[in-house]
Amino acid sequence: MKRVDVAIVGGGLVGCATAWRLSTAGASVELIEAADINAGASGQNAGSLHFQIERRFLENGDALAEQASSIVALSRIAVEDWRGLETALNADLHVSMAGGLMVAETADHVALLERKATREQREGLKVRTIDGDAARAIAPYLSASVLAANHSADEGHADPRTVTPALAAAARAAGATIRTHSAVHAIGRRAGGGFTIAGNGFSLHADQVLIAAGAWTAALCTLANLHMPLYPVALLMNATERTAPMVPHLVQHVGRRLSLKQTHAGNLLIGGGWPSRLAQLPGGGFDLSRRATMIPDSLSGNLRAAIDVVPAISRLNLIRSWTGVTAISADQLPIVGQVPRMPGLWIAAGGSAFTLGPTFARLVASAMAGGPSEALDIVSPARFEHLNGFMG
Ligand SMILES: Cc1cc2nc3c(=O)[nH]c(=O)nc-3n(C[C@H](O)[C@H](O)[C@H](O)COP(=O)(O)OP(=O)(O)OC[C@H]3O[C@@H](n4cnc5c(N)ncnc54)[C@H](O)[C@@H]3O)c2cc1C
Repeated sequence: MKRVDVAIVGGGLVGCATAWRLSTAGASVELIEAADINAGASGQNAGSLHFQIERRFLENGDALAEQASSIVALSRIAVEDWRGLETALNADLHVSMAGGLMVAETADHVALLERKATREQREGLKVRTIDGDAARAIAPYLSASVLAANHSADEGHADPRTVTPALAAAARAAGATIRTHSAVHAIGRRAGGGFTIAGNGFSLHADQVLIAAGAWTAALCTLANLHMPLYPVALLMNATERTAPMVPHLVQHVGRRLSLKQTHAGNLLIGGGWPSRLAQLPGGGFDLSRRATMIPDSLSGNLRAAIDVVPAISRLNLIRSWTGVTAISADQLPIVGQVPRMPGLWIAAGGSAFTLGPTFARLVASAMAGGPSEALDIVSPARFEHLNGFMG
C-alpha cells in the first residue's frame, strides 16, 4: 500500500497551503479532496483580510471578548504571511492591503470600538480610534452617519477564487499528490503507529494526518472516533456590478453585520455574517451536500447596512448573491493543532481561515516536522480534550 509522510483531508485554503509548506520542506504529501480544489468555504468567502477583532467576538459580552482577543497574536503573524504570499507563490492573488476601517454609528458602538482598540493595542496590533471626520478624510465614501472608526493600516482583501488554486499548484510543483473527487470514508490508527486513510478508489498509509475539511471537519473526526466541537454555519454574500474605483479599504461595522470591499475587477463585495439556512437531513442533522438557502431578511438587512455606511452603493445593481458554509467552534476560536490523545492526528478548522489560513498552514507544517508549536497553543484542540475522555 502507498505510504506518505502526511495525508491531508480537504482541498481548501488550509489543506492546500499546508500541502505546499510540507512538500516544500521535503515531506511526501497526499491531499485528498472530495470535490474540486476550492469547492468549499475557501472559494465562497468574502476575501477579507481582517486583523482587527471581529464583531462576532464582541457581541456576547466582555468575558468572551476578552478571551477572543488572544486571537490577535495570530492575526499579527498573519499580516506578515499575507504580505509575503504573492512573492512566495510567484502568483497574482489580487492581495490589497490598503487598510481597513471598522465603523460605528452610535455612541454605544463608539464605546465598543474604544474597548476593542485597547485590547488590540495591548496585544500589539496597530489600531487607532478616529472620529467620523477623520474616517471620512481617509475614506470620503463613508456616510455622515459614521461617528468613529478603528483604523488598521494592514487590513485588506485578496481574491478567494485565485488564492487556493495557486496554493494547490505550488504544492503540486513541490511534489505533493493532489487527489480530487475522492472522499475520505475511513481514518484508522495502525498498530505500529501512523494511520490508514481510505476513500472511494484509494487507501494509503500516512505517518501523520491533517483534517482540514472546514465545515465537514467534525464529521471526519468521528471517523477517528473523536468529538470535535465544530458546527457548520451558512452565510450570505453579495456582489454588485462593477464600478470605477471608490472603496480601496476593507470596511467593517462594529455593531452591525457588514463587511465590504471593492474587488480588483470593480465589483463591491458585501457580506458580514448574515445567516442563510442549512439544508436538513430527515431525522436530524444538516445536509452539507446541498446548498444552503438564502433568507430574504438577511439579504435586505445586509444591503441596508451597506447603503447606510456607503450611500453610493444604492446607485449600483446587485448582480449576484450566494450562500457559503463554514465552521464555527464551541468557543468561537479556531481549532488548530495536534490532538493530544492521538499523536499524529492534526486538526485545522474553524474561524476566519481565509485571513488566518496561510498562518495555520505554516505553523502546522513546521510543528508536524518537530518545530515549535507555542504560537498555536491558544487554538489547540487540547482545550476540548475533556470531550474525548471516552473516545479515541
Ligand atoms: C460566505 C463566507 C464568507 C467568509 N468570509 C471570510 C472572510 O472574509 N475572511 C476570512 O478570513 N474568512 C472568511 N470566511 C471563512 C473562510 O472562508 C473559511 O474559514 C476558510 O475558507 C476555511 O478553509 P478550509 O480550507 O479550512 O475549508 P474549506 O475551504 O471549506 O475546504 C474544506 C474542503 O474539505 C472537503 N471535504 C469535505 N469532506 C471531505 C471528505 N470526506 N474527504 C475529502 N475532502 C472533504 C470539502 O469538499 C472542501 O473542499 C467566510 C466563510 C463564508 C462561508
